[in-house]
Amino acid sequence: MSDIPSERKQQKLLSNSKIKVEEIIQHLKRADRGNYSTNKGFLPSIMTPLVYPMYKLSCKTKKFYVTDKCIGCSLCERICPSKVIEMNDEKPKWTQEKCAHCLAGISRCPAKAIEYGKSTKRRGRYINTKVNFMI
Ligand code: SF4
Repeated sequence: MSDIPSERKQQKLLSNSKIKVEEIIQHLKRADRGNYSTNKGFLPSIMTPLVYPMYKLSCKTKKFYVTDKCIGCSLCERICPSKVIEMNDEKPKWTQEKCAHCLAGISRCPAKAIEYGKSTKRRGRYINTKVNFMI
């Protein structure tokens, strides 16, 4: 739906995330109960109930496809946390109707061979270098 943020914005988001992760760790250590991750305020209180169900409905795999640029490395299959990608004739195939839409495969494909409908054709790909996949 949108392009990736600038390098500067990415750095800002990542440094803010350290604070958030620390907060989450503290909640876990205290075994806190409740919802501590929802933004407070009028707009989030309206948007969350509207957007979340739409997000859940939209996490479909139907629009993922692979182009001729695919080199058959199988990285997308190995890193997919939803395990919905299987190699078939050295090309990825999405085997289930829905996935987490984490975009790991589309973002990390070394050949930039995965697209999602028309949405991703001219979009950048984001890789969080702090995330390592155990593959
Ligand atoms: S990661 Fe990219 S190049 Fe490798 S198999 Fe998947 S689509 Fe093809």
